[in-house]
Amino acid sequence: MLIFLLVYYVLAGLGVNLGYHRLLCHRALRLPRWLERSLITFGLPAGTPIQWVGTHRFHHANADTPLDPHSPHYGGLLRAHCGWYLGTGRRWLAVAYALAGPLRLLVDAWLRPRTNQQFNHLASDVAADPYYRWLSRPIPYAATLHLHAVIPVTIALASWGPAAFALIWVTFALLYNIGDAIDSLSHWKGELLPGQIDHSRNHSVLGLVAGGEGWHANHHRHPWSARHGLAGQFDWTWQVIRFLGFLRLATQIKVANSQQSSSLTQG
Ligand SMILES: [Zn+2]
Ligand SMILES: [Zn+2]
Repeated sequence: MLIFLLVYYVLAGLGVNLGYHRLLCHRALRLPRWLERSLITFGLPAGTPIQWVGTHRFHHANADTPLDPHSPHYGGLLRAHCGWYLGTGRRWLAVAYALAGPLRLLVDAWLRPRTNQQFNHLASDVAADPYYRWLSRPIPYAATLHLHAVIPVTIALASWGPAAFALIWVTFALLYNIGDAIDSLSHWKGELLPGQIDHSRNHSVLGLVAGGEGWHANHHRHPWSARHGLAGQFDWTWQVIRFLGFLRLATQIKVANSQQSSSLTQG
């Protein structure tokens, strides 16, 4: 049971970090279509592919300005964390949503294909793919996202009984909140880089628990780089990309030089 939840957590995390973020949004590497689509399907709790990519590209173009959809410096930490999904500044609602665990999947199944769609035009390349276009529609998105709830709950009940709900709750709460912390904490606490114009930070704890995404200042400096953690900054999503490169599944991998982040190479 624990192994199953851990595998689910890692696959969903990779779906977001590697699939949605580094691959689909920033085109930092290429993968075979079957693998890319599998990763995106695992990352579906992050939102629809078109909405996620459009919003994230707009975030990079307007980071920590009044236009940023989720900056803790405009609207507060809770709104940047998850309140922006709901379009609310109400703290109690954002806290309830943050702690909703697997119930959030049921809320998101209705919410995510319908809200925050104003930047979809920035993801026309994603919308050009018929699978992502289909997955971004309300009914297919809701149906597929329900599988993210139904499959773990069914397996948990069959193996551990009702006591397994607590573990499932913790798994989903961690998955959502660690991901949301990249929007909130990664623009609030941590190390700034010299000459930076936004508030993105490098945060060692988030770097570790969020699969390398917490090296967020590095990422904002070189958004197209497949590697976020540089020398001495562990980035396990990057290690997976390296392994996929070794297997010749990942190609056209773009990286920032590990010794000098301003010196870039392409591999
Ligand atoms: Zn950011
Ligand atoms: Zn990014």
